[in-house]
Amino acid sequence: MTQSTETSAVPLDSPPEIVGRIRDAILSRQRFVLTSHARPDGDSIGSQLAMAYALEALGKEVRLVNADAAPEHYFEFPGVDRIEITPETTTDADAVIVMECSDLTRTGVAGLGDRFLINIDHHAGNRMYGAINWFDESAAACGEMVFDIIKALGVPLSEEIATHIYLAILTDTGSFHHSNITPRTFEICRQTVEAGVNPAIMARRVYDSNSFGKLKLIGALLDQMVLADHGRLAILQMDDAMLEACGCTNNDTEGIINLPLTAREIQAVVFFKTSDVDGVRVSMRSKYDVDVRMVASEFGGGGHKNAAGFTLPDRLSDIQDRVVQRLTRAVNEGLRTRPS
Ligand code: AMP
Ligand code: MN
Repeated sequence: MTQSTETSAVPLDSPPEIVGRIRDAILSRQRFVLTSHARPDGDSIGSQLAMAYALEALGKEVRLVNADAAPEHYFEFPGVDRIEITPETTTDADAVIVMECSDLTRTGVAGLGDRFLINIDHHAGNRMYGAINWFDESAAACGEMVFDIIKALGVPLSEEIATHIYLAILTDTGSFHHSNITPRTFEICRQTVEAGVNPAIMARRVYDSNSFGKLKLIGALLDQMVLADHGRLAILQMDDAMLEACGCTNNDTEGIINLPLTAREIQAVVFFKTSDVDGVRVSMRSKYDVDVRMVASEFGGGGHKNAAGFTLPDRLSDIQDRVVQRLTRAVNEGLRTRPS
């Protein structure tokens, strides 16, 4: 069989009608507060700042508010230092745009609920808490949805906007590893690169900006890694003492959870952290069809098929076995439908 060498435009669905409603709601208002989830990641920061630069290109006034500061290496990206960090605020803005939050409480910022809320999110189980709700579980990143809105607003992709859209997609796909990537993901990335994004610089800034302390922490965590389910499930565990011994803060843990997945046999990872919460923060990552979101939702959390999490007030020893057993089941169910 001969292979066609013809190239064709990637067929993309036109944005849904809700994008037009969000565009109109934005165009008819002047002052905005933009927020995202507590302990922000690349998608929350990227979505928020891409939206901020787009609204400002239209002459709108924008305030950015989050519960927690972004991990340090995100401060290399434009505008991240503009984000106010507070657990509570008041505003008389015309609208609050909440991105990346399945529930308003996920923002960790009190005092925003009485404004006109626009909810833009791709996490399963979104509670539709806004006056306008756009929930699209098929988006690889909330940044894909923000891209559609920016296009609908007629704002050209500046280098800042393109950088933040790319940041959102790069990080929320787990640097193009997860199962949520579609032709539209690459089409959007193509346009951002055309607008000036340098993928090599982005990857170096996001993934190669570790401190030496973090390298020590990686060593310590992997050294103590435990395997379950015939080596298919990796268990990581971290407490305050370990962080301190390596001279690290909680922000330094970002990304470490993905490392065990680089072993061929390992299908899922669970990371138990007892360092910054009363209780246990549980993060999970998986390959292919191993669905960790289902596991997270059974423990009161959420996320995506290949990246999810939850927090419990319990002692680690009281929950660990239950979580590992449930994950083992998810691994075995996922393997049955694994692509060859
Ligand atoms: P993390 O492991 O904290 O990086 O989170 C991975 C994914 O799970 C992200 O999409 C988070 O938004 C989501 N997630 C983590 N913890 C929770 C939670 N307590 N409730 C809902 N979603 C969560
Ligand atoms: Mn996201």
